[in-house]
Amino acid sequence: MEIEIVKSHLLIIGGGLAGLSAAIEASKFDIDITLLSRSKVGYSGNTSISKGGFAAVIQGNEEGDMPYIHMIDTMKAGYKINDEGLVKTMVERGERTIKTLDNFGVPFYKSDDKYVLLEAPGHSKKRYISILDKHNSRFRLNGLTITKNLMNIINQKSNIHICDNMFVVSLYCEGNRKYCISLDIVKKNIKLIYSNAIIIATGGCCSLYNNSTNTLDADGSGVYLAKHAGITFNNMEFIQFHPLALVDYPRYILPTTIFSLGATLINEEGKEFISKYTNRNYNAERDVMSMSIYKEMRNSSGNIYVDFSKANIPILSSLIPNFNVLKIHKKIKVKPSAHFMMGGIKINKHAETNKEGVYAAGEVTSGVHGANRLAGNALLEAATFGEIAGLNAGEYAKGKTIDTFVIDMDNIKNFILFSENNRVKNNKILDEVNIELKKTVDTSISIIRNHRVLLNAKEKVKAMLEMLKEYKPVEFDDLVRYFKIKIKLEVAMEIIENSLKRKKTLGSFIIE
Ligand SMILES: Cc1cc2nc3c(=O)[nH]c(=O)nc-3n(C[C@H](O)[C@H](O)[C@H](O)COP(=O)(O)OP(=O)(O)OC[C@H]3O[C@@H](n4cnc5c(N)ncnc54)[C@H](O)[C@@H]3O)c2cc1C
Repeated sequence: MEIEIVKSHLLIIGGGLAGLSAAIEASKFDIDITLLSRSKVGYSGNTSISKGGFAAVIQGNEEGDMPYIHMIDTMKAGYKINDEGLVKTMVERGERTIKTLDNFGVPFYKSDDKYVLLEAPGHSKKRYISILDKHNSRFRLNGLTITKNLMNIINQKSNIHICDNMFVVSLYCEGNRKYCISLDIVKKNIKLIYSNAIIIATGGCCSLYNNSTNTLDADGSGVYLAKHAGITFNNMEFIQFHPLALVDYPRYILPTTIFSLGATLINEEGKEFISKYTNRNYNAERDVMSMSIYKEMRNSSGNIYVDFSKANIPILSSLIPNFNVLKIHKKIKVKPSAHFMMGGIKINKHAETNKEGVYAAGEVTSGVHGANRLAGNALLEAATFGEIAGLNAGEYAKGKTIDTFVIDMDNIKNFILFSENNRVKNNKILDEVNIELKKTVDTSISIIRNHRVLLNAKEKVKAMLEMLKEYKPVEFDDLVRYFKIKIKLEVAMEIIENSLKRKKTLGSFIIE
């Protein structure tokens, strides 16, 4: 099979908000940048389907809000296991990040040229900034409004080379020597990309769950790549469940800001229940609200609804994309769904990992959110640390010659396990493992976790990894499927093993 060699000063893996922000910033340097994604750069990952809400302190706001107050709220929500330095950097750069995106053409919701600041649970001041797309299409995705505007900038940069459909399955990074192995899903060949610097911006892992709000490419790839390249990561047990995923449209979530506009939560009998579980009521952070809904579903053995009968419908329908399309008139069924990965690759405030010349940004990293994330802090994190990573990686990569050291290609082929002859095609193994894995993930590493169930899940995943060793891909597409499942299994194992280490309930999950 053909192996194509590519050289680039800077390689950016991931075409969501973190990757795009990094590319724009790094393009200011006289370097050659490869920006790749396993599907379409700018139109993939969770950014593209996000609600487009950013939390940021804007100077001169009427609430007397300050970055340190945003920091206190973020640390409180994260149960104070957040990385203080990262939080400080993010909140202090909040306004700058919003203005940068504004300059790129992102249409934030403004009135009299001032950002409209909304309330959001867990934020003690109004600082949630939304997107208002005046060119409202019938089915609106605010996230795509962000990425399309950034892509307009990227398309004008001659030193950014976009590579779609490139599934990265391995990284090597030791000193000046770096490369990645990528499967070109369309050309069906392998690309070996040498670079001086690498930015990992591959997003989260919640598509591991059946019950998930995420796009399918959010499988924890970045953590898998980090693990095999010796890059440090942590806190993988913390998975946030969004309380308001629509039961009938699983990848659609209602923003928790709806409660400040009069919406309520009711059970099958039409009764409000939130105060039974938390005295913070509708101002409870996502983890508490998800647990409250989960417990009420269990206790009442029925569905939970968001009730809009007392809400401000005109404002809601302008702020919530597709409110009218989804025919949300009176009430709609919701349930908590796996939404956000709080753990991931460890970075410092310069977006550096423990490996020289390797940076990471966005949902793939850990630290900012601790054990639970506040609304609007993920997009702010992705744009802020994306920009920081782009700046520092660009600085690092400039002026260096790319070391195209000789690699034993046979080694790569062995590693890839590719063999065109003597292997029995047995895709049934992959089908079985895939189904079993989803079941295991949903039952063992959900909102409520139990030591015995976790130990059982660990054994199951171990057995599935053993089973996978028997699988030998024959065709290129088998190879892609093989890696997709291997990545998910290894990431699920990280979540299970880290959950087993936590002895006490903290943040996003309960230990029973
Ligand atoms: C439904 C939904 C709504 C949300 N709304 C909000 C909101 O309003 N406010 C907020 O703050 N947060 C929100 N979030 C969270 C937020 O959208 C994400 O945390 C953020 O967009 C992550 O950006 P990112 O650039 O790190 O990753 P992503 O946007 O997920 O991009 C990851 C990129 O990496 C690529 N990739 C992954 N693996 C590989 C690989 N192995 N090889 C090559 N490429 C790879 C993907 O294809 C993609 O291009 C929402 C999330 C969801 C699911």
